[in-house]
Amino acid sequence: MNLPTDPAANLAALIRCASVTPAEGGALGALEDMLKPLGFSVERPVFSEDGTPDIENLYARRSGNGPHLMFAGHTDVVPVGDEAAWTHPPFAAEIANGEMYGRGAVDMKGGIACFIAAVARHVGENGGPKGSVSLLITGDEEGPAINGTTKLLEWAAGKGEKWDASIVGEPTNPDALGDMIKIGRRGSLSGSVVVIGRQGHAAYPQLADNPVRGLMSLVDALLYPAFDEGTKDFQATNLEVTSIDVGNPATNVIPAKATATFNIRFNDTWTAETIQAEIHNRLDQAAGRTKYRPGKKTPVDYDIVWRDRPSHVFLTRDDRLIETLSQSVKTAIGRKPALSTSGGTSDARFIKDYCPVVEFGLVGKTMHMVDERVALADLETLTQIYQRFIEDWFERGAA
Ligand SMILES: [Zn+2]
Repeated sequence: MNLPTDPAANLAALIRCASVTPAEGGALGALEDMLKPLGFSVERPVFSEDGTPDIENLYARRSGNGPHLMFAGHTDVVPVGDEAAWTHPPFAAEIANGEMYGRGAVDMKGGIACFIAAVARHVGENGGPKGSVSLLITGDEEGPAINGTTKLLEWAAGKGEKWDASIVGEPTNPDALGDMIKIGRRGSLSGSVVVIGRQGHAAYPQLADNPVRGLMSLVDALLYPAFDEGTKDFQATNLEVTSIDVGNPATNVIPAKATATFNIRFNDTWTAETIQAEIHNRLDQAAGRTKYRPGKKTPVDYDIVWRDRPSHVFLTRDDRLIETLSQSVKTAIGRKPALSTSGGTSDARFIKDYCPVVEFGLVGKTMHMVDERVALADLETLTQIYQRFIEDWFERGAA
């Protein structure tokens, strides 16, 4: 039988499916075709929710007697942007100068293609892992992410699925394959501070209450002092003011309202709840300051509106998982990867509630860009790293 041992062939099949979120585009079907000959049972649940498109997802498991390793990822891709600007068409998987071009090449059809090739080689050479391997693949990571990983995890866990470890195949390497394994992620939280003042004539400020003055004190309190200095595993918590809005076209009118919007990335010295409490506390204290509001006796009248749900911070502490993967990287490329918690959030933040999770995939340099592409040499190396990891992880057994 022809097993899908060639990551480039696997990836080409996936790139040729135009699976821009929320379209399945044939990508999950292509995966199913690769996984069935390897002994996986494949299910493709569709999840729905009012106000969002229905999304098809895939869960495949190859059952064995032993621990259970889950590979997680997504087959949906971001839009191509200006298609005419691509050197090679975005859904053609053309190869030039040792690189395969196409939307999703690194984010993250390439990672999935390599993982399947790694399992296929293991099956071909050694009969496959002594344990269970599953793939949890969503079609809704780049979109609203409502009918994707969270629901797929709940659905699978509801059927009794349990995992001992998970690897997410997102492109974690900044410059070269093997640079970086992600072992956690910072939390993220966004909000807006709205200051209500009293509108009036710029020449008669005593009759008005300029909300911009009040907002100055509040924003100052958000930015200073620093929240913390960082930890061994995490960068310092950082707050960025992303917008300040007054919307006042007149130069001689004191506006009635001013708003500042911010995003904060916080480390594991905080939880979403404690960082929110800290921000409330800072704003309450700053509201009474009169530095920018001389003569005003009432505190700044403000509201805070929290946006969306917070992303929670996490740090994986499974040494066996992390050490086995680091060692697999070292065997393939001769150096150990950095263990990092930098960057944005990912679906690992949902998986961490079920089992220890790390992230390792291709080089992220061209993700979401025109001419997204991957070196064929990287596909081969990542396949070897994944294969070595699978062999050693099952050899060592679950933690
Ligand atoms: Zn991705």
